[in-house]
Amino acid sequence: MFLPVESVLSSAFTSVADAVAYLLRIRVLLTVVSCSRCGSSVQRYPSRPTVWHCNDHDCAHQVTVFAGSFFSRLHLPCNKVLRIAYKFLSGRSISLISAETGVSRVSVGKVVRMLREAIITEVLYEDLREESLLGGAEIVVAADESLFERGEGNEEDALLVLGAVEEESGRFRASIVPNHLASTLIPQLRSWIRRNSIVVTDQYSSYRSLGASLGAVHQVVTHRYEWVNEEGFTTNAIESLWSRLKRAIPIRDRIPGVLQLRLDEQRWRWNHRTELWNALMRTLTVHPH
Ligand SMILES: [Zn+2]
Repeated sequence: MFLPVESVLSSAFTSVADAVAYLLRIRVLLTVVSCSRCGSSVQRYPSRPTVWHCNDHDCAHQVTVFAGSFFSRLHLPCNKVLRIAYKFLSGRSISLISAETGVSRVSVGKVVRMLREAIITEVLYEDLREESLLGGAEIVVAADESLFERGEGNEEDALLVLGAVEEESGRFRASIVPNHLASTLIPQLRSWIRRNSIVVTDQYSSYRSLGASLGAVHQVVTHRYEWVNEEGFTTNAIESLWSRLKRAIPIRDRIPGVLQLRLDEQRWRWNHRTELWNALMRTLTVHPH
């Protein structure tokens, strides 16, 4: 995971004026060039960096720099919101962020919730694109299901997750599924994986028709006898995805209505891991109407 060194952002984290300047520079906030009432030029005064003032004294219209933005929905100063966002991206818990920033847990919780909403919206948007599909000719995708348990040996409340991951890139999809039936697993995989892919699974019977249904080359690894099949394929990619996701998603989040959101958030984090901070800033960008 890549985050810019905190010191690069430190002035934006400590000063409202610097935070506003930063957000305007990276275009998360829109730069207002003229007054919406009278068309005169506008400016921000150093003493009030969060307000655009109309330069026509008779008009004197003012508008906040946060108009229509993520920040307008929060009561915290924007520099604190940025600092909380940074700590959230780096994987800290709400309590730890609260302790490190001196912002109440309730307020940190609200910021984190809103950041997650922005991320999930972005993921859903990205999923609509053709490039979000996995695999293709000669591309190896490993698929499997795994139980996300609510505690050691607590299988009763566990949720079943189906996943598929491109061996080479690590790009993946993961969804809660109601059961292990072929009629559940196969259509889900077909919606994620391109035809002509090479799909590796274990010997589980629900995958028997996978090759024909997906128009894919199906490679089976029979785990009772082997870790690598005769042609050299393994399910290692999906095994390591499961351990990564289970490390990242705490047990308290493994409940219906939450787990899927966390899986999607982890997918966003993976897809943008080389530029996580910038990707988050893009999800917060105000688009002009
Ligand atoms: Zn004006």
